[in-house]
Amino acid sequence: MVVRLMTGSYCTTAGPVSPATIVCYAKPSRSVEPALSVVSALSQVFHEHPAMNEPPTLILAGAIAGRPETDRPPQAVIIHENRILTVGCADEVPPPPGGSRIDRHDHLLLPALVNAHAHLDLTHLGPQPYQGDFRAWIDLIRAGRANEDDAIADSVRLGVKLARAGGIGAIGDIAGIGSLMPGLTQRAGGLPGVSFVELFGIGRAESTAAQQVERLVAATAGERPDPTPVTFGLQPHAPYSCSLATYRIAAETGFPLATHLAETRSEIDFVQNARGPFREMLESFGLWTDRIRATGQHPIDHLAPLLRGHAMLLAHVNYCETHHLDLLAETKATVVYCPRASAYFGHPEKDAAPHRYRDMLKRGIPVALGTDSILCLNTPDRISVLDEMRFLYQRDRTAPAVLLQMATQCGADALGLSPSCFTIAPGPVVGLLALPFDPADPRDPFEQVLERDDPPEWVAGPFPYPHDSTSESSPRSQGAIAP
Ligand SMILES: [Zn+2]
Repeated sequence: MVVRLMTGSYCTTAGPVSPATIVCYAKPSRSVEPALSVVSALSQVFHEHPAMNEPPTLILAGAIAGRPETDRPPQAVIIHENRILTVGCADEVPPPPGGSRIDRHDHLLLPALVNAHAHLDLTHLGPQPYQGDFRAWIDLIRAGRANEDDAIADSVRLGVKLARAGGIGAIGDIAGIGSLMPGLTQRAGGLPGVSFVELFGIGRAESTAAQQVERLVAATAGERPDPTPVTFGLQPHAPYSCSLATYRIAAETGFPLATHLAETRSEIDFVQNARGPFREMLESFGLWTDRIRATGQHPIDHLAPLLRGHAMLLAHVNYCETHHLDLLAETKATVVYCPRASAYFGHPEKDAAPHRYRDMLKRGIPVALGTDSILCLNTPDRISVLDEMRFLYQRDRTAPAVLLQMATQCGADALGLSPSCFTIAPGPVVGLLALPFDPADPRDPFEQVLERDDPPEWVAGPFPYPHDSTSESSPRSQGAIAP
């Protein structure tokens, strides 16, 4: 009825917890802290789940992302169901009695990743070349996207599969034709996150978008918490396709919000001057009315009143001036940078400043990573922000620890999930990934992983999102991230 930790000269009792006595041994010469944490965590597990009797699993790895560089290999994680019990150097972590063991001596462990901006309902289209004509590209999507429920569900199911193949543990997905089907399919696939139902509401489409919001609110009223916490949100598509009134209607629902913002210079021209390719597009769709006026503003300034009052995920923000950094730092916005998609479309353009994600992080603006749609990606077999991390590391040499925070905690927090579930630390987690590296190579294992292109292996999970995860301070409240 007790858990005892025993070393050569040390013994402690962690309290009555299970029908059996569990004894953990630690070498007397080593710190007892890792073993103590096992006892403490086992106590909690058995107390909360008395019927649970599967033994914990010991995972050995060459390195663990985010651990101090001084830690010696091999590293060890003991995990029981979806809960990490302890993390440390293998020679200080006692193997759990009767437990299984996974050996990945030449792998780096990463937590499950968060893709904060994807379009899973376009997955069936696969990667596509970009010919330099954004309007033609939009026409390609309009012609090729699935419009019937069965076809939408098939595309999202494929997207969930490719996201899982990329080690994704949560996702912010855009439901592109205003349907609940992508979110319901995401739920059925067990992939946590938010399904942002997309709105197109400008000119003659404004009233349609307002009705769409009413229907969504009615359809999701009284929803009970789901085992996989896929919640519905709203995504006014962009400032060139949604009026400020449509943004306000979406914000007033209290649903999670996302949008595409400051993605192209054509968008800036449209919002400032009511002209350019996007005006021509609205005219060709029969949506233009003279009520659409030039604002004289940059799109970020245009949305500033909303951003000050509502948390919002802002996809892209490729064109951002210095005063916008101050503005965004005062809001609860999270920028979602999709670096491969930006490069695919050629943004920011060559005569503009490079993307300012590092300046944003320094100012305390959370920057998550997203993939955008598979059309923009060079990885047909997976949809993963792991490859966004690799892209940024290879291009900018951004510190791996910063990239990891962008690919996990920043996204989780923006999607209303507990960031700690996307770390490798004691407590509930969504899963663990292993990526190979060469132990004979003197370079840092994480840097090696970011230079390679191997797919991740789930060595634990993916688990259902742990409802007992506790919320803690968000990346924003922790202050600026120094890239
Ligand atoms: Zn997008």
